[in-house]
Amino acid sequence: MNEFELIDHFFSHPLKQRKDVLLGIGDDAALLKPPANQSLVVAMDTLVAGVHFPEFTKPFDIGYKSLAVNLSDLAAMGATPAWATLALTLPKADKKWLTEFSKGFFKLLKEHDMQLVGGDTTRGPLTITVQVHGFVPEKLALCRNQAKAGDLIYVTGTLGDAGLALLMAIHHSKPVARMKHGEIREKNLILERLNCPTPRIEEGLALRKISNCAIDISDGLAADLKHILQKSHVGATICVEDLPLSNALKNRLSSPEAWNLALTAGDDYELCFTTPPANETKLKKVFEKINCPLTCIGQIEKKAGLRLTYRDGRTYNVKPKGYQHF
Ligand code: ADP
Ligand code: MG
Repeated sequence: MNEFELIDHFFSHPLKQRKDVLLGIGDDAALLKPPANQSLVVAMDTLVAGVHFPEFTKPFDIGYKSLAVNLSDLAAMGATPAWATLALTLPKADKKWLTEFSKGFFKLLKEHDMQLVGGDTTRGPLTITVQVHGFVPEKLALCRNQAKAGDLIYVTGTLGDAGLALLMAIHHSKPVARMKHGEIREKNLILERLNCPTPRIEEGLALRKISNCAIDISDGLAADLKHILQKSHVGATICVEDLPLSNALKNRLSSPEAWNLALTAGDDYELCFTTPPANETKLKKVFEKINCPLTCIGQIEKKAGLRLTYRDGRTYNVKPKGYQHF
């Protein structure tokens, strides 16, 4: 299979044609028509085998995740996804691998009514670069530099699950044959968080009129929240006891380890955002409607830096240890 047959077979197969794609895959470049009065939002992320995913990751998951991590960036801007491009570097043209990869990629693409409009295909060590394009009405984008002292800090979903999955995948703690039914289900759910994260697109859209400031948690809450603090020239206090943890995480790790994982492990792709306290009622209503768990973890303050506390106000300073994998 040569390069052109490969592209044709796996990537330009009948796609639902978006009206704003004047010309898609097959020419020297794509012709696209962004809507009037909206900002074009562009993000790109690269996944390198052995660096961004373990070598044993299934091709379906690699396809899914390469798009998911990009959509998470659009979500964190409050953007509606529209187009994607895909640069694939492959050690060889493996039909089985490509079939599974494209299944994962197109599954998520279709869920968001997106179109793949172009890309590039080369030979080399397995590397996947995806670029996504979306739209947001001017002035409604969620930017990192918009947090204000007094704002409350919220996160969606639960934190640390992808980190836990990585620990479990690496240590293979217990043979499946000796697991109880509930245990297997829980383990699969956790692995799913690492391999097929759900980008919080709907949540990002819901936040357009409630928040001005958001980030997606790809490198760990502490690191990502610090980006908001630095860009906004503010500080924050968060309470470790308020960090949202899944039952799976609570069942496997005791408090300081669980909190440290939630603070430092990456790959969760939840949203962290800020909003004035006056928006609380509206916020809760909107998130209940879209059925997304929401937790207030702290508050933005004038004083620079990130402070961690217990609920009673004591300083939390248990340093993360033993997670060299991150
Ligand atoms: P050129 O030589 O002009 O750069 P290419 O051979 O790289 O053209 O690509 C031919 C067409 O196929 C282009 O429209 C390009 O966007 C598309 N394409 C190449 N690789 C991919 C891919 N992995 N996924 C989607 N489209 C691709
Ligand atoms: Mg090219």
